[in-house]
Amino acid sequence: MPGIFSRGQSGANAPVIPPKVPTPGPEAPTEVSAEEAALPVTAPVPIVRPSDQEPVGPDLDEAGGGIAVDEVVADVVIGPTGRPVPVFPDPRPLTTHGHARVISMCNQKGGVGKTTTTINLGASLAEFGRKVLLVDFDPQGSLSVGLGLNPHDIELTVYNLLMDRNVTLDDVVVPSGVAGMDLLPSNIDLSAAEVQLVHEVAREQTLQRVLGPAIENYDVILIDCQPSLGLLTVNALTASDGVIVPLECEYFALRGVALLKTTIDKVRERLNPRLEIDGVLGTMYDGRTLHSREVLERLVQAWGEKVFHTVIRRTVKFSDSTVAGEPITSYASTSTGADAYRQLAKEVALRCLDA
Ligand code: ADP
Ligand code: MG
Repeated sequence: MPGIFSRGQSGANAPVIPPKVPTPGPEAPTEVSAEEAALPVTAPVPIVRPSDQEPVGPDLDEAGGGIAVDEVVADVVIGPTGRPVPVFPDPRPLTTHGHARVISMCNQKGGVGKTTTTINLGASLAEFGRKVLLVDFDPQGSLSVGLGLNPHDIELTVYNLLMDRNVTLDDVVVPSGVAGMDLLPSNIDLSAAEVQLVHEVAREQTLQRVLGPAIENYDVILIDCQPSLGLLTVNALTASDGVIVPLECEYFALRGVALLKTTIDKVRERLNPRLEIDGVLGTMYDGRTLHSREVLERLVQAWGEKVFHTVIRRTVKFSDSTVAGEPITSYASTSTGADAYRQLAKEVALRCLDA
């Protein structure tokens, strides 16, 4: 694989996922309370009353999404990540737009929710009045398809923008079908860029260069990365201010995270000193299984406050909305899956956009 990380990859600098230590479960609420008091929660945490929360029932499709309330201990709501759940305010209305924060959705594992998160976080931020640009940076073109485009019908794609200096951003941007959200589409042509870019000068900065004119037009630019740590992903990280790492709540999800962290560290050291990890997002969470909870517990042990309080539950509504070619926020606007991404948008806005 071409790129700066083709050799010598190691997890040496990466956070070591600590061995699992037994922690009290729901059956030991008083001990959880003591442990919760010792957690490194910063600012005062507003309390979410149980009445503010959606009920969580046994049927995932009914109850899927949203911040799950796992237990209520002495009036403090403990979320699925084992921490007290703060209340996230709506992002403040904007009167002007620009100075976009560029955020990559990155995980070299496929099927973890990168594309789903790009579409639905973008659509939710657009609902909150942000001007959003989505960049499909995966030759599989799932983001473009997920927004209803036919890959064969797309005339100009990110590939043309990267490789042809006569093609401008405006030539390639298309509306996404969601008000306030645009798309730079892709299709299989992009796979050629990975090879062709190797011969370019400043090959790692190519995406950053072509996205330059978009920074002043948007509030947030979300890049949907391909499932690899090759040159396209290095380009995405070099163009970004932040990274969001979606992680399926499965044990195998923890494997490979150390390598991803090493890649992010290397890009920060060699190419892009401003690159930050904006957050780690648990996806496809199934609160009924101990397994899902344990994975989240270990994520918090390894990544601490980087783990978003918002967790995306497993629900078939996401695949249904992909087939429909629209975000879940419009396909099933009142579903808890849609609410989960609105909640994530608020958490992201508070954490790393100037909410
Ligand atoms: P990636 O971009 O990381 O490969 P996707 O976002 O394409 O992952 O998700 C892979 C598949 O899982 C898709 O079919 C998508 O509809 C489905 N999916 C994504 N998130 C969820 C979820 N929270 N619950 C159930 N299915 C999901
Ligand atoms: Mg994808």
